[in-house]
Amino acid sequence: MGKKILIHNDKVPGINTLEVYRQHGGYASVEKALKTMTPEAVVEEVKKSGLRGRGGAGFPTGMKWSFLAKPPGVERYLVCNADESEPGTFKDRYLMEKIPHALIEGMITSSYALGAKTSYIYIRGEYFYVARILENAINEAYAAGLLGKNILGTEFSHDCYVQVGAGAYICGEETALLESLEGKRGNPRIKPPFPAIAGLYGCPTVVNNVETIAAVCPIINMGGDEYAKIGVGRSTGTKLISASGHINKPGVYEIEMGVPVEEFIYSEEYCGGIINGRKLKAVVAGGSSVPILPAELILKTEKGEPRLMTYESLSDGGFATGTMLGSGGFIVYDETTSIVKNLYTFARFYHHESCGQCSPCREGTGWMEKILHRIVEGHGKPGDVDLLWDIQRKIEGNTICPLGDAAAWPVASAIRHFRKEFEDYIKYPEKIKDFMPVV
Ligand code: SF4
Repeated sequence: MGKKILIHNDKVPGINTLEVYRQHGGYASVEKALKTMTPEAVVEEVKKSGLRGRGGAGFPTGMKWSFLAKPPGVERYLVCNADESEPGTFKDRYLMEKIPHALIEGMITSSYALGAKTSYIYIRGEYFYVARILENAINEAYAAGLLGKNILGTEFSHDCYVQVGAGAYICGEETALLESLEGKRGNPRIKPPFPAIAGLYGCPTVVNNVETIAAVCPIINMGGDEYAKIGVGRSTGTKLISASGHINKPGVYEIEMGVPVEEFIYSEEYCGGIINGRKLKAVVAGGSSVPILPAELILKTEKGEPRLMTYESLSDGGFATGTMLGSGGFIVYDETTSIVKNLYTFARFYHHESCGQCSPCREGTGWMEKILHRIVEGHGKPGDVDLLWDIQRKIEGNTICPLGDAAAWPVASAIRHFRKEFEDYIKYPEKIKDFMPVV
């Protein structure tokens, strides 16, 4: 049984209330940090823990915090990115819905470390009911003296607000999120300057994902060194994985970093194997934007080593034979799946969500959707696969924000590993119904 430190108490009745949460050790990190540690010491523990951003990029959190500018007399902000919209990813929703105080506790402890008097939780519009859950938790925290003036009788005062977005995927990009939080259209900003220098309202700002902020609580409670002992190499701690697709037990799992992918898919502790005993065809390991890998490459690396659930092992081999841990949106496809049709669904999504600021993304996502549409409808043309390849190459790396890459990578990897499937769609349109997934 793997170690659980983030959602270990998710099944406790009433854990969403302050009373029960505190009975189970809740807010210990706030007590410890505010009463016995300096802000710098909290940052130091997070650095020692090796915690990396759980939203997708995997950037070291302590290092990100240490970049925060601290000009005297200027406000600093902590912003929680709860705009979880990546297809296949739903672990932040689970955490906020089940244990909302875990996030509020992390917001207070992290804000103390950063010297932020105000923080915001920016949550996606479709999660409006989760926003209500968070607001209730925040009200409870204010009433108990855990938020507001002189928290727990210390010098530290802090206010935390929930802001609901309007349901745009692009607002999960940190600078688009800040624009939206300021009341503007959620268009990504050109970087630099980075938010650590000029973020919300032009002030130094740290933007962290929900799971990242919640992970600060166990780190402070157990100490950064102890946390770093969990996991493998530079992939320390635990990770929430949203598992979906053709598996017997879809859901949110907390894993110790380093669990073999094969164990994650087939063991009873996690996904419980493929439904109806069918064969594994492919996996998208970290949300729809990361490269899809065929069964043989997701279970073992090109060198024949077992593939592990870590940042390093999943990306072993680069994009030629590897993928990314990303947001932990783990989608499993069995042998009946049409990779082409699945890709068309992704392409529609990215075209719809492009903000339209840069031409490679605005036009390219539309072209990819159109070409894939005609292929799945049986009107594909010879040369369409090469055309798709060419378009995705011209998007990748040529846009303001990573949405362009996110749209290009699924196309590139699907063609790289399943080219024949595309060619069969074009060559034998009369057989397309046979290629459709059996649901
Ligand atoms: Fe907008 Fe796409 Fe450019 Fe990002 S890459 S700024 S989403 S057009």
